[in-house]
Amino acid sequence: MADVSKTEKAKLHVPDLEELRAVLQTGLEDNFAEVKVSVVECPDLTKEPFNFPVKGLCGSPRVTDVGGVPYLVPVVQKHKEYDMNAISKELELPGAFILGAGAVSSRIVGMNAELMPLVLTEADGRPAVNSSYFSSINPVDGQCLQERYSHKFSDCNFGLLGNLYACEGRPGKVIEVRAQKRTGDRSIVTALRKTLEVQYPDRSLALGGTFIIQRGKAKIHIMPREFSVCPLNSDEEVNSWLKHFEGLDLRVEHTHCFSRHGEGGHYYIDTTPESVQYLGYFVPAEFMYRIDRPEAVGRD
Ligand code: ZN
Repeated sequence: MADVSKTEKAKLHVPDLEELRAVLQTGLEDNFAEVKVSVVECPDLTKEPFNFPVKGLCGSPRVTDVGGVPYLVPVVQKHKEYDMNAISKELELPGAFILGAGAVSSRIVGMNAELMPLVLTEADGRPAVNSSYFSSINPVDGQCLQERYSHKFSDCNFGLLGNLYACEGRPGKVIEVRAQKRTGDRSIVTALRKTLEVQYPDRSLALGGTFIIQRGKAKIHIMPREFSVCPLNSDEEVNSWLKHFEGLDLRVEHTHCFSRHGEGGHYYIDTTPESVQYLGYFVPAEFMYRIDRPEAVGRD
């Protein structure tokens, strides 16, 4: 297991939801032809199409950046393994609901794969509920193979890195984002982040949440099943193997997706700007936790 004893914590700026609504409405209009941002009651996430193990995204919202790309390259550090139940305690929120983006533990799964975590962590007298998905490249046909994690494994572990949002899983007020017909070159996630960067240049903010691509298709990637045999040293090699990585010490943006049609992985952007339609729910986090930060600063 990895060292979680040196966690760093920072308080984040939490704008008023109504202020945030107006900021995001204006910012997203630069990237989408039709935008409607509202403050709404979080829809019941236990229902279709979410089927999450909790009702909402509210209650003590926080984000964490666990481990990092330096544990993947130049040489994979397979002992870097984390337990969602331990992470929730490290986030001072035992029993939290956790979603986000990560990698599986290769020790448990037997290969490298993308993880789409959806975990209600254990609490007094209540076992954890793991609704996560993972996806790998199917050796039979080279296509994406998405599976329900709990169909094969009974733990709540992950490996190497995780960019996670945690909360109490309660109902409450959230920001609803409806955006369609992409006119700019930013993904919905990048458009949200850049909007915040421009509006709050001297503040640290983080949004966590979930979105649905109601219409259109997305470009995703899946890490190869096998870790690279040769140590990866130049940035070019890293990029060609992983295809995408952010060299910052804090990963500023990371989104994983799953679907009802058997595909999932790391989300970049939709490939159908004309027809794409997004519906998302987001909450500004109150705290940021940096857990098991790699000593090697990521390259950029
Ligand atoms: Zn990813």
